[in-house]
Amino acid sequence: MNKIIKSHRGIYYVENKNDIVLSKARGVFRNQNIKPVVGDNVKLFINDDGTGYIDEIYERKNQLIRPPIANIDQVVVVMSIVSPNINLNLLDRYLLMLEKSKIDIKIIFNKIDLLVNDDFNYIFDIYRNIGYDIFLNSNKDSKSKEYLKEIFNNKITAVAGPSGVGKSTTLNSIFEDLDLDTGLISKKTQRGKHTTRTVKMLKINETTYIIDTPGFSSLDLTFIEDRSEIKDNFVEFKEFSANCKFHNCFHINEPSCGIKEAVKLGDISDYRYNNYKLILEEYDSIRRY
Ligand code: GDP
Repeated sequence: MNKIIKSHRGIYYVENKNDIVLSKARGVFRNQNIKPVVGDNVKLFINDDGTGYIDEIYERKNQLIRPPIANIDQVVVVMSIVSPNINLNLLDRYLLMLEKSKIDIKIIFNKIDLLVNDDFNYIFDIYRNIGYDIFLNSNKDSKSKEYLKEIFNNKITAVAGPSGVGKSTTLNSIFEDLDLDTGLISKKTQRGKHTTRTVKMLKINETTYIIDTPGFSSLDLTFIEDRSEIKDNFVEFKEFSANCKFHNCFHINEPSCGIKEAVKLGDISDYRYNNYKLILEEYDSIRRY
């Protein structure tokens, strides 16, 4: 079994022992409308000239459409609270997409050295209370390095988050040999960051991979196939939706709604509920056209 670790314009970089084989996909996939993606485990044939072709894609344990990756163990979502300011709507979109795809989630709130008081603790509480694993980090403080490393050990992890929140800096500080471009470097060289949309996996050791993916910085709602997926994947709604009068309640205008009641009582965060409504509205407006 061989793993695709990078894909670029129809060329797949496939691990083969200690080598990387540049490979193409066999036409048969095109007919079936299946495209190999980074993270796929594949059956590889090697041509006489050392290039390869992919003959079969083994069953995926999970997959994301955007960015196109498969077989990941978890997604670490990185957000800064300030600089850039946190966008809770974007965070909730990530969570919605990952819950739908049944992928484990961890959240790193970065740049906490920039917080001068407790004004933002409510954000940590919202996500902690839902049950998400959250980590507070500052790259100005080397203490958190070791326990952050533990998050990534022996896992295939995709790292998500908007540009500038400190993803590359955090990864570089945890894994010294990684040498990812950070905002600082790209300013010096005047090179636009993430100018390509190439997805690639970085191998830390035999069992640890990181996927640093530019396609993750914003998120439209095309991954949603059915309207009810939105309410079903705001995970903290589950407990309270049992109290709704209508079993198909969307928690907007319906009477006797368990979710609206829980928001009133403070059992569900009103930030989360508002984002739920905004996302649902946006989904409906896209569907109308
Ligand atoms: P990325 O686009 O998410 O990969 O972000 P970068 O790693 O390129 O970081 C963007 C900027 O934030 C750089 O100027 C970093 O030096 C800075 N930065 C990263 N982490 C921290 C942090 O924990 N605290 C502070 N104050 N700045 C940070």
